[in-house]
Amino acid sequence: MIQLYQPLNFLGMIYREIKQSLIDIEAMFAILARNPEVQDSPVAKPLQLKGAAIRFEDVRFSYDPEREILKGISFEVPAGQTVAIVGPSGAGKSTISRLLYRFYDVASGRITIDGQDIRNVRQESLRAAIGMVPQDTVLFNDTLAYNIRYGRPGASDAEVERAAELAQIDGFVKRTPKGYTTEVGERGLKLSGGEKQRVAIARTILKDPAILLLDEATSALDSHTEREIQDALERVSRGRTTLVVAHRLSTVVSADEIIVLEQGRIAERGTHAELMTRRGLYHSMWQRQREVDEAKATLSRGEDDL
Ligand code: ADP
Ligand code: MG
Repeated sequence: MIQLYQPLNFLGMIYREIKQSLIDIEAMFAILARNPEVQDSPVAKPLQLKGAAIRFEDVRFSYDPEREILKGISFEVPAGQTVAIVGPSGAGKSTISRLLYRFYDVASGRITIDGQDIRNVRQESLRAAIGMVPQDTVLFNDTLAYNIRYGRPGASDAEVERAAELAQIDGFVKRTPKGYTTEVGERGLKLSGGEKQRVAIARTILKDPAILLLDEATSALDSHTEREIQDALERVSRGRTTLVVAHRLSTVVSADEIIVLEQGRIAERGTHAELMTRRGLYHSMWQRQREVDEAKATLSRGEDDL
């Protein structure tokens, strides 16, 4: 009986917490992904933001003790700048963004924002400062307006529409049967990956965070959608400290610094031009990408000929 009671009690607790924190999608993820070891220290203070400069100092991390995932990572995102992280799948790119959001604590080294170790600040204030655009955005079975307003529940209709415009999703919304009151999800409209990502961008515009954390979708988008998303991301990242796990060349080319991650270590770093001149890992990544693109173009030309 006792054995059964414990998990039920735990589920009840999670349910109550989710209900209370539906205000903030990131808070919900935080609860679902909660690692009991990540807790506010009794002396934790609210994060004091200045320019929102981020520093990783010799960060080491592992999910399982036997396998180290990040093996001494140091880099800086100066206030208002953009750093792109690229590298093969499994290199540890998403782990870096999870650590900044403090889903997990570092094993050694430290992560600071404006000089404050994120382990010493209240999680709530840390997460309020960060806007996350994940690879796969979760939409609610509710209206388009509700889904966008999620970034800031108090936002007015005009603010929601303005955010949608900036995120380049307003054209799509206006073409739906009931505009902003169109239902999405299982009972209503289905959105493509690109449309969902733009809803996430609109939410982030409403949230107006000092730090932007982007995990670009790996899946191929058509070039028109890709350009729209790129424009939207560029607008939202302007003036914010941005860390982006990048898969699109356009994002990477304009980054202030590119970090090439390989098996948990920084293999190369620099601007696009510097890394291309170096003719190392980064250069060969883009060579390979170009070959894939050319092969695809040849294939589609073949189809046109039929
Ligand atoms: P990337 O984003 O570069 O593809 P990730 O940071 O997601 O890579 O993952 C890095 C490594 O950590 C991978 O080998 C992955 O399998 C492992 N990993 C990711 N999440 C977990 C987890 N929750 N538990 C155990 N291993 C994980
Ligand atoms: Mg990843």
